[in-house]
Amino acid sequence: MLEVTNLRAGYGAINVLWDLSLTVETGKLTTIIGPNGAGKSTLLRAVMGLIPVTQGSISLHGKPLNGTPTWEMNQLSMAMIPEGRMTFRDMTVEENLMMGAFAPQHRAQATANLEKSYAMFPRLRERRKQLAGSLSGGEAQMLAMARGLMSDPKLLIIDEPSLGLAPVMVNELFEILARLKQEGRTMILVEQNTHRAVGVADHVYLMQSGKVVLSQAACDVSLDHLHDLYFAR
Ligand code: ATP
Repeated sequence: MLEVTNLRAGYGAINVLWDLSLTVETGKLTTIIGPNGAGKSTLLRAVMGLIPVTQGSISLHGKPLNGTPTWEMNQLSMAMIPEGRMTFRDMTVEENLMMGAFAPQHRAQATANLEKSYAMFPRLRERRKQLAGSLSGGEAQMLAMARGLMSDPKLLIIDEPSLGLAPVMVNELFEILARLKQEGRTMILVEQNTHRAVGVADHVYLMQSGKVVLSQAACDVSLDHLHDLYFAR
């Protein structure tokens, strides 16, 4: 279980997250939704140790996570798939995937995990020698997802994967998320596609201006109410 308690974090003198608390249950998909600028990516950056925490705590299975360097996070079986794909454009698809298993403790499993990635994303196998920079947006997102899975993480953090994708690719993406959920992985999904995110999630948090304004089991969420809060109507 990942627990965030009374968190404040931001960028230098600018505070973005205000006393934010949330819980991510093991084996469940928790979605964090909210409008542009709500602080969703900032929260993920704070969890991953990419920005300092100025107040509060983050813990994983009861152990403090604050202060853990980002490069040690995958030893804790955590991986983040960042917003904007962030693939290595001048490397091939397969080289990008191997980078996901670059840490020494993952190298022995790299070949087996590569096969698993190709089984889950057959188009990446077809394009394994192609430069990542020449992939379509949808293919690049699949590559970013597959690279994140190369270390076989138990906790997968995914930032706005559907951004800019065509509807058919969005469908494919959410099918993959449903499969990853069935595998029993713990996932944090940041999304703006509220309808699809609520559909796949176990628990929903809605953020506004750096705060949680709704925390509810996905099965209890009314999309109308959610959208009222989302658009502050
Ligand atoms: P989006 O859905 O548009 O990605 P978000 O909810 O993820 O939005 P954040 O990216 O976390 O929002 O941004 C929250 C606030 O922090 C915004 O006001 C943004 O301008 C600010 N911010 C983000 N990154 C930085 C940065 N590197 N330096 C200063 N301010 C930043």
